Amino acid sequence: MVIRMKANVTYWLDESAERLPDKTAFAEEGKSVTFRELQSQAKAVATQIIGKGLFKKPVVVYMEKGVDVLVSFMGAAYSGNFYSPVDVDMPAARVNKILEVLEPALVITTAALKETFESYDYSGGFLLFEEACHGEIREEQIEAARNKGIDTDLLYVLFTSGSTGVPKGVTITHRSVIDYIDWVTETFGITAQDSFGNQAPFYFDNSILDIYSTIKTGATTFIIPKNLFAQPVLLLEYLKEKEINTIFWVPSALIVVAKLKAFRNVDVSETLKRVLFCGEVMPNKQLNVWRKFLPDVLYANLYGPTEITDACTYYIVDREFADDEPLPIGVPMANTDILVLNEKNEPVTGDEIGELCVRGTSLSMGYYHNPEKTREAFVQNPLNPFVPEIIYRTGDLVKYNEYGEIIYLSRKDFQIKHMGHRIELGEIETAVSSLEEVSLCCCLYDEKRQRIVLFLEGELEKAFINERISGLVPEYMLPGKVICLEKMPINANGKIDRVKLKERL
Ligand code: AMP
Repeated sequence: MVIRMKANVTYWLDESAERLPDKTAFAEEGKSVTFRELQSQAKAVATQIIGKGLFKKPVVVYMEKGVDVLVSFMGAAYSGNFYSPVDVDMPAARVNKILEVLEPALVITTAALKETFESYDYSGGFLLFEEACHGEIREEQIEAARNKGIDTDLLYVLFTSGSTGVPKGVTITHRSVIDYIDWVTETFGITAQDSFGNQAPFYFDNSILDIYSTIKTGATTFIIPKNLFAQPVLLLEYLKEKEINTIFWVPSALIVVAKLKAFRNVDVSETLKRVLFCGEVMPNKQLNVWRKFLPDVLYANLYGPTEITDACTYYIVDREFADDEPLPIGVPMANTDILVLNEKNEPVTGDEIGELCVRGTSLSMGYYHNPEKTREAFVQNPLNPFVPEIIYRTGDLVKYNEYGEIIYLSRKDFQIKHMGHRIELGEIETAVSSLEEVSLCCCLYDEKRQRIVLFLEGELEKAFINERISGLVPEYMLPGKVICLEKMPINANGKIDRVKLKERL
């Protein structure tokens, strides 16, 4: 008898499909799939991919966000290949850069989108989703492909923006996702009774939590229509109507709801149980609005870059915070070690600031087809000269507070030297965010003019802001210029778009 490890996420789908065949797995407006449908359609897609002789190859999924994308992801996984989603709204130049790095073996798309993709620098094959998903299933071929794979084989590649302008493809294995999702579902007690309200695009790593917690436990994920995130009342009505009890959003999405105090119009206290967030700083001022209206909800701040499979630290909110206090990013997740290293590559002591580095199964295998960038960020653990051991340097600056919790300060690149002072721009943002009149803000440094520039949504005078925050930050940290915007630019992932803001300096 051959004993096999179930070292592949598709086993979760097999189990959920067996246990809960007719339960809805994923739903979008006007369309949904049950676990059995998800499984059989994905296996049909996998059969087609295997038929093309592909194994351990990159498969691009180029479709509008929806349940079909998830079927395609699972199809690639069943076939022993790995997927990489490409956003249909992505500018052609960036798609071409991604294609240059990834050299996909196949593109799964629809008949309607195929022509657009043909205009890119790609001459390989296509699989039309609508034809593939109802085709023949060759179980024995799928089983053979799955048995050939191991848990350190790639499951997906997500592209993040590189500082050089060349997108970096973060590679993530089955093993990393299994490690992360086991932690998520256990820590938050996710079961088949739960339902997620998905905000994150599928090319953004936050979506991993929704997708794989659902597949593993037999929960249900509702893909929330994007336009609702600009209409908080309708958004809350949607959550209530679908009886969504768990959300995992970027803070910017939670802030919009808090700002308009939509809770006054819609009461979700009977249904909403967990509010998780990750991806950028969650200001306590807005979190306090959520907490005031929904005091019984579990709130958790998750932190992490794509390179460590979505998140590596967490803080379950368990005490009161003043509006101007930072919310901790907390402590490492299970089976994850966090090293905070100073400039001498030694562990920090006391409240010394250092770079957050990560060790563990959750680490990416590196950037696809990019050994140089991989070598820069994935390095030998300087604390372990004895055996090869890779850590990931996040480029994020943090320190410990008096409770031993990690406090996020800023990206290393957002650390500036201004008039001889070392300043974390994030610290100024925390101070400004705490003002009642401010909903969204962002600080950048104008190197040319040597001044701190504050962008904010709304109409406020520089003198007013500086007077109000002068008790919170030293004088040398006060913004030299304030730019008021009607609307803060938001990037495709839903975070504040710093690149766009930089253009306005
Ligand atoms: P991404 O790879 O797009 O998920 O971006 C990861 C980066 O977002 C991290 O390196 C941090 O700079 C930032 N980030 C993620 N989660 C948090 C959080 N909870 N608080 C503050 N910043 C965060």
